Amino acid sequence: MQYIAPLAELIEHFRALPGIGNKTAVRLAYHVLDMDMEKARGLAGAIMRAKEKIGYCKVCFNLSDEDPCHICKSEARDHSVICVVEQPQDVAAMERMRDFKGVYHVLHGALSPLEGVGPENLKIKELLNRLHDDRVKEIIMATNPNVEGEATAMYIAKLLKPIGVKVTRIAHGLPVGGDLEYADEVTLSRAMENRIEL
Ligand SMILES: [Zn+2]
Repeated sequence: MQYIAPLAELIEHFRALPGIGNKTAVRLAYHVLDMDMEKARGLAGAIMRAKEKIGYCKVCFNLSDEDPCHICKSEARDHSVICVVEQPQDVAAMERMRDFKGVYHVLHGALSPLEGVGPENLKIKELLNRLHDDRVKEIIMATNPNVEGEATAMYIAKLLKPIGVKVTRIAHGLPVGGDLEYADEVTLSRAMENRIEL
C-alpha cells in the first residue's frame, strides 16, 4: 500500500526502532496522527530534549545529563570498587537493586569477533585509565552471562592481572544467555554477593 509521503516517512522512522515490526510501525504512525497537536509537540520535544541534554559521563560512560554523572561525583559512593557492565541499561538494573554502593564503568558492548566488535570498540582503554586512581581496589565484571559477556570478562581480567588490581566476576545463577538488564533484584543481588575472584 502507498502512503502519503509524510505518513510514509513517519512509518519508516518507527520501523527503524528496535523491536518494531511493520505492523506496529504503521499503528504507531496512525496513532501519532490521531494525537492532538499539543501531545505530538510534547513527544517530539521529549525526543529532542533527551538527545540534547543526555550525553556520556566522561568517567564511567553511563548516560547522564551532567558530566561527571551524579554517581561518579558522589562522595557517598565507594570509589574503590568499579562494577563493569555492558550497557547503560545494566547500570539502571544494578541501581534498582540498591545495595551496590560502588561506581560503574560502561563498556558499550561486549567482545564479539563474529560481529566485528574488538577491544578497540569498547571503553576498555578508558577503564585502564581509571586505574591510575590509587583508590581503585576491585573491579567487578558484571557483563552478561553469555558467550560474549564471559569472553569480555576474561579478556579484561587478563589485562588487569599484571596491574595487581583484584578482579571478580559476578556469580552464576543469572540465567545463562540472559541479559543482566532483565534479571530481578534478588538474583542480581545474590550474583553480586557470591562473586568469585578471576
Ligand atoms: Zn559517571
